[in-house]
Amino acid sequence: MSLLSITRVLLVALLVTWSFLDYGFVRGSYGAVLPGFWNLLVILILTMFLMIPSVVFLPLWVLPQLLQRWQGSIRKSRNCCQECGHPLEGSAAICAECGPLQVRMNTLDRSLLISCLMIWTGCWITGTLAGETIARLDEHQFIRSSEADSGESISRERWKPYWGSLHWNQQSKTAFATLHEE
Ligand SMILES: [Zn+2]
Repeated sequence: MSLLSITRVLLVALLVTWSFLDYGFVRGSYGAVLPGFWNLLVILILTMFLMIPSVVFLPLWVLPQLLQRWQGSIRKSRNCCQECGHPLEGSAAICAECGPLQVRMNTLDRSLLISCLMIWTGCWITGTLAGETIARLDEHQFIRSSEADSGESISRERWKPYWGSLHWNQQSKTAFATLHEE
């Protein structure tokens, strides 16, 4: 496996973990049990906000291209072609070897940005999907065991790494959640 592949695998693992832990934090703090669509939407958006600092790691995804760009800017400052290093005649933006350059560079910028955004979004969605799946399994398990139990009040903490606790209301036969142990 190349160094770039290893870097990318680690980056994806970092971003998915980041999203998953954020989701666990937001989901637990939000205090809902088996939330519906609108609550889920709010939780998703809050998770996305907490994910924003992780964008500083995204350049790792396109490191070779960024290094290439850096090399290109050095070549440009020496009035050489950014792509191949061929010396340019006067102020011409056309290389004798590879043709017009400006257009290619701009397209490269956009495709780098798009691939970074797609990776970031993919990791965010994957982390939140895993987070929601585990939260629901936890809540279903809690409700099943509470319904089976004829005891008065049942409470337990959510599974780690989720924040908050789950509680059972014996009168209404419903579960509710709080951020702290009561
Ligand atoms: Zn060239």
